[in-house]
Amino acid sequence: MGTKKIVVLGGGESGVGAALLAQAKGFDVFLSDKGKLGDSYRATLQQAGIPFEEGQHTDSQILTAIEVIKSPGIPATVPLVKALREQGTPVISEIEFAARYTNARLIGITGSNGKTTTSLLTYHLLKTAGFNVGLAGNIGDSFAEQVLNQSYDYYVLELSSFQLDDMYDTHLDVRVLLNITPDHLDRYNYDFQQYVDSKFRILQNARPSDTFIYFDGSQPVTDQLAKQAYAIQKRPIRLDSALTGEGGYALNGQLTAQTGTQTFTIAQADTPLRGPHNAINMLAAVLVAQAVGATDDAITDGLRTFENAAHRLEPVGTINGVQFINDSKATNVDSVFYALSSMDTPTVWIAGGQDKGNDYGQLDELVDKHVKALICLGVDNKKLVDHFGGRVPVIYETQQITDAVAKGLSLAGPGETVLLSPACASFDLFRNYIDRGDQFRTAVAQLADSVIIP
Ligand code: ADP
Repeated sequence: MGTKKIVVLGGGESGVGAALLAQAKGFDVFLSDKGKLGDSYRATLQQAGIPFEEGQHTDSQILTAIEVIKSPGIPATVPLVKALREQGTPVISEIEFAARYTNARLIGITGSNGKTTTSLLTYHLLKTAGFNVGLAGNIGDSFAEQVLNQSYDYYVLELSSFQLDDMYDTHLDVRVLLNITPDHLDRYNYDFQQYVDSKFRILQNARPSDTFIYFDGSQPVTDQLAKQAYAIQKRPIRLDSALTGEGGYALNGQLTAQTGTQTFTIAQADTPLRGPHNAINMLAAVLVAQAVGATDDAITDGLRTFENAAHRLEPVGTINGVQFINDSKATNVDSVFYALSSMDTPTVWIAGGQDKGNDYGQLDELVDKHVKALICLGVDNKKLVDHFGGRVPVIYETQQITDAVAKGLSLAGPGETVLLSPACASFDLFRNYIDRGDQFRTAVAQLADSVIIP
């Protein structure tokens, strides 16, 4: 019974990919998803002849596995996972499983914020430099399926803390830790240290010859991190906004990345990404590119031609000299902090949605400096109005995104900016942050068509 049986828990992108790889490697595979499978995933499993169940987990099918590959979305605290661990069955992530079957060099990128941007950019820089590279992890196509069907020399892996939690033996050649701020604490017993420990797993199995790049600004966590990093490796590479020497730093609008004798420098104004947070993300990606041997010219070319994922400070149009920026991904106050820090013109700020226990106090200084009007776009705007009333000269409330965009245009002058950066979840008026950002982009395009250029 079950000497070669692998069970996959969760039938999304990573689970279905893992099931296909496990089958190709000769295991008996069973996939179990407590919810409903997407149609294309169900069809893939049926076509491959992989048995599966939906809408339930059948213990007798699962507890007989020699190993279980768990989706990052399933908490370690669910009784089934606990039971597996108690009986000594290894529970691992798709990344851990697939890494066993590739000789590619692995570049792991984690952090509370900036993972997607940095992973996409790192991937783009390496591709531009001519490397045979794949992109996987918390983003895009399943790592396992790519390991099965592709033969990349490098992988850029975006790693969430949930993926790191189920990784044990994977060796990453290059590791990046962007920052650590409280997030997902519901999955870590509301204990920040547990979440920090999870992020520090990016360092596991480190060898002195690996490259480790980390941001030096997440105090007090960094001191602990530095100690751990230096214990493994003599020269981890630091990223900071005000460092000099080896590492990455941003000073007076100039980005500099120095590894060994290679010094790369570029003006941030010559790149498509704005803001101090993106300076760090770009430096991290450039340091990775240097570590694997990309030339300065290729890095410059890659930075100039990069297009970030949508909804992250995404310019969506200019009407009568007013620029509209879609930052719908900013679903918390921290993200808005970085968005407002990136503004260099007077700004009409569109915010609001479902509150997540927001404390707006940390935005006061930036709001005083940049925001000339606030448009509250939500079902319940009271908290925003209460906090910023008296602070921002004009406050307008609406529940229509087309109205918010039109009002934004009327309140902003030429050379100014209308910024959607909500600080809140989107579920009161939209399906999700993507829907909110898409509707914003459409509303701007429609307004542009209807406005007569003076
Ligand atoms: P993630 O994949 O970690 O969620 P993204 O690259 O999608 O990160 O960026 C999400 C949001 O996080 C951005 O819109 C921005 O507000 C914020 N952010 C991005 N990079 C950083 C950074 N280096 N430090 C702090 N915040 C950042």
